[in-house]
Amino acid sequence: MERTLFTEEHESFRKAFKQFVAREVVPHQPRWREQGQVDREVWRKAGAQGFLCTWMETQYGGPGGDFLYAVIIIEELARAYESGFAMSLHSDIIVPYIHSFGSEEQKQKWLPGCASGEIVTALGMTEPGTGSDLAALATTAVRDGDDYVINGAKTFISNGQLCDIVLVAAKTDPNPENAHRGISMFIVEANRKGFTKGKRLHKMGMPSQDTSELFFEDCRVPKANLLGQEGAGFMMMMTKLQQERLSVAIGAVPQAEQVLADTIAYTKERKAFGKPISKFQNTQFKLVECLAKVEVGRAYVDKVIAEHVAGKNLVKECSMAKFWTTDMAQEVIDTCLQFFGGYGYMTEYPVTRAFMDARVQRIYAGTNEIMKVIVAKQLGL
Ligand SMILES: Cc1cc2nc3c(=O)[nH]c(=O)nc-3n(C[C@H](O)[C@H](O)[C@H](O)COP(=O)(O)OP(=O)(O)OC[C@H]3O[C@@H](n4cnc5c(N)ncnc54)[C@H](O)[C@@H]3O)c2cc1C
Repeated sequence: MERTLFTEEHESFRKAFKQFVAREVVPHQPRWREQGQVDREVWRKAGAQGFLCTWMETQYGGPGGDFLYAVIIIEELARAYESGFAMSLHSDIIVPYIHSFGSEEQKQKWLPGCASGEIVTALGMTEPGTGSDLAALATTAVRDGDDYVINGAKTFISNGQLCDIVLVAAKTDPNPENAHRGISMFIVEANRKGFTKGKRLHKMGMPSQDTSELFFEDCRVPKANLLGQEGAGFMMMMTKLQQERLSVAIGAVPQAEQVLADTIAYTKERKAFGKPISKFQNTQFKLVECLAKVEVGRAYVDKVIAEHVAGKNLVKECSMAKFWTTDMAQEVIDTCLQFFGGYGYMTEYPVTRAFMDARVQRIYAGTNEIMKVIVAKQLGL
């Protein structure tokens, strides 16, 4: 299906990024999976070539592109079955908080490092006691002179081991009646006293992503590390979640598409009862159904991307894209896996890893149930 989103410049960028992935990502994937995280160095290499924060203006050290470059990065990593190198989380989800809500001084201080790969970011919203209900978070930040003192714990935090700074959501007003207006965001440097990186969590998939627990024990940060206004944290999270959900949807489509392409190739090779398994009508019908799902998903996501780039408010559309494409990717990958027979259960096969990687997409960035809660609210239900 022809796509109309990208210009020639975007396509040459895609070519360059594909080469980067083939050279700097794919050969290292088995080792990254083994060690539970990507190499720190690959972040700097990506930054040096202008692959981080692609949308950021040159005045802050970015390459001065637009969000469509970010789309290309997400798509090509998905096509390479890369689930641990959280470039998009850093570039398109976390750094935009500093870019949109930071003071000029904060932007000058942090953004160039984020674009160069010297600074890897993490975002600490989820806690052991709450995830979907962010207004109920229990981490506190208490003002003490010119500082805030942070206490609490975060869990399931992506880039938890490699991060140099964490954006932490904490309660500055513990009064439950002000739940939504009582949350503030802080930039916490990883070398701050009182901040500890906990253990890297063992997950079903994404083995090279260093998802971790984080702890704050009387962690003192200067008020210069408060992002935006005190009490504006919930609003900031709600504003930025649109792009986060869209980014997940953008990745889900090429992930399913790549698994489908690899499955079509496999079914043409693998023989049973004297003929390629692609010749069974069941195989053909199932693969055609998968193709239809991928293409329908692509058409919708491309439309939402175009409107997002045009600056439209798309809470409903991004939420629908997130739950529909991630459910679709899981279904497509599951259907494809079946054609690999026993090999589809072996973790050395990319389809098997894709199956395990895909599962979390229905959980993080707001669960798919929460996406439906949001859409229902938009419908006035
Ligand atoms: C690999 C991974 C990486 C992650 N990375 C990050 C990160 O970098 N930063 C971060 O802050 N968080 C991160 N998360 C956390 C993730 O966003 C949360 O796990 C998710 O939002 C769900 O929160 P929870 O786990 O507390 O589940 P809960 O909120 O306890 O939900 C449990 C179940 O109840 C359902 N439910 C809850 N409320 C409702 C409702 N109103 N209506 C219907 N159903 C409901 C949910 O859909 C879910 O099925 C990550 C998680 C994983 C697994």
